Amino acid sequence: MSWEADPNFLGAFKGALPGHYRYNHRMYGHFMQAGLPPAERGIFLAGDDVSWTPAWVEGAVQTALNAVWGVTAHFGGRSAPGNPGPGDVYGAIGPMTLAD
Ligand SMILES: Cc1cc2nc3c(=O)[nH]c(=O)nc-3n(C[C@H](O)[C@H](O)[C@H](O)COP(=O)(O)OP(=O)(O)OC[C@H]3O[C@@H](n4cnc5c(N)ncnc54)[C@H](O)[C@@H]3O)c2cc1C
Repeated sequence: MSWEADPNFLGAFKGALPGHYRYNHRMYGHFMQAGLPPAERGIFLAGDDVSWTPAWVEGAVQTALNAVWGVTAHFGGRSAPGNPGPGDVYGAIGPMTLAD
């Protein structure tokens, strides 16, 4: 198919355009699932689509680290002492929550 024929096509990359902050924030932070209802936990995404810095491979790799941390936490695991994972420091260095 031609992506250009899709009315929601935003270009070659997942968009992070003005007004998208709330969506990027939710998608990027989805691996932090402690506050979700139990029935909504357990799906973890990785890749450019949920990246904080779409169109940069570094951001896609970061989402893989996030997802692995999320899966580990989901099954009751934790990071090695002295080597915190993304979810351990998300509250301190994760993206800010802004009002809608
Ligand atoms: C033209 C261009 C230039 C770029 N230049 C740079 C650059 O200079 N520096 C930089 O950091 N980043 C660059 N990027 C961005 C970088 O390539 C992406 O951020 C990165 O490749 C995303 O990695 P990903 O694993 O999330 O997705 P992808 O690399 O897209 O991997 C997704 C994979 O899933 C496969 N797939 C899809 N559907 C299915 C299915 N149903 N079943 C099985 N497999 C499936 C696809 O074939 C693909 O191999 C560029 C991107 C483009 C398009």
